[in-house]
Amino acid sequence: MSQFFGSIGRGLRGKKPDKTKPSPLPSGSGSGGNGGASGNNGNGGGGFSSPSGSLMPGSPSGQRITQKPLFLCKPFVTSQLVKGSFSTIVVLPRYVDQGEWLALNLFEFFDMLNKFYGVVQEFCTPQACPSMSAGPGLDYSWLDANKKPLRLPATTYIEYVLQWISNRINDESIFPTKANPSATSAVNTPSGSASGSPAGPSGATGQTWIGKDGGFPPNFYVTCKAIYKQMFRVFAHIYHTHFAKIVHMSLEAHFNSFFAHFIHFARAFELLERRDIEPLRSLIDSFEEQGLFKDNERSREQ
Ligand SMILES: [Zn+2]
Repeated sequence: MSQFFGSIGRGLRGKKPDKTKPSPLPSGSGSGGNGGASGNNGNGGGGFSSPSGSLMPGSPSGQRITQKPLFLCKPFVTSQLVKGSFSTIVVLPRYVDQGEWLALNLFEFFDMLNKFYGVVQEFCTPQACPSMSAGPGLDYSWLDANKKPLRLPATTYIEYVLQWISNRINDESIFPTKANPSATSAVNTPSGSASGSPAGPSGATGQTWIGKDGGFPPNFYVTCKAIYKQMFRVFAHIYHTHFAKIVHMSLEAHFNSFFAHFIHFARAFELLERRDIEPLRSLIDSFEEQGLFKDNERSREQ
């Protein structure tokens, strides 16, 4: 998959963490884990900022809502690199720790999203995009350290998001790069560990969580969800604001396929809340009709 996208970027934007920047805190808390552990009020949004604007694209704020966005128009909406479903590359491979699978894919999506944003970045200026818009009537706002919503230009918002995600995925306490010495059964069993080992220790010690056997912390899944939510917003901004540039560069098939893969993965592992995908729901529905998400359940059962 990644070869498809490998040549289109303008270099990775993921820079080394820069401590001089104002601390980018989409959640208003020090870590995604924090927000998840304490502030998971209600529907799993963590402590994350809600979009300041209305979540209803059909809000009575303007007439433009009647106009179909470019990405929903033919032939672009049906432009795909892959005909058929992404199930085979989404479903958890047998005997693979779910935490490892989530982490690996998250890294890949982040890397690719960085590259795609790099392609349109020169058009995403404070003048062109004075707010982090995802369609008429919807602007995401950033929460500062005091949880006060800030209306930032999209380029600044996205820069903060990418930096914030980069800081998370480079954090060894959330995404360890070394094999976990305490996950003895999963890592150290010399042979025959493929069958049965994951279930045993978790059950025995009582508490369990996604990624535990892979050495991931209890807040791992919540952090993943927080990252997915922010990545989705970058997709939404590109689709709603810069899709014409994507088309100019004949990248719509790549971008659609990438987004379909991202959504399929998020659905398979319940990484995005329903309300969060609202800005691109029509597109997702269209992908659904095209069969891109098919056979998910069937593949999972096998
Ligand atoms: Zn923009």
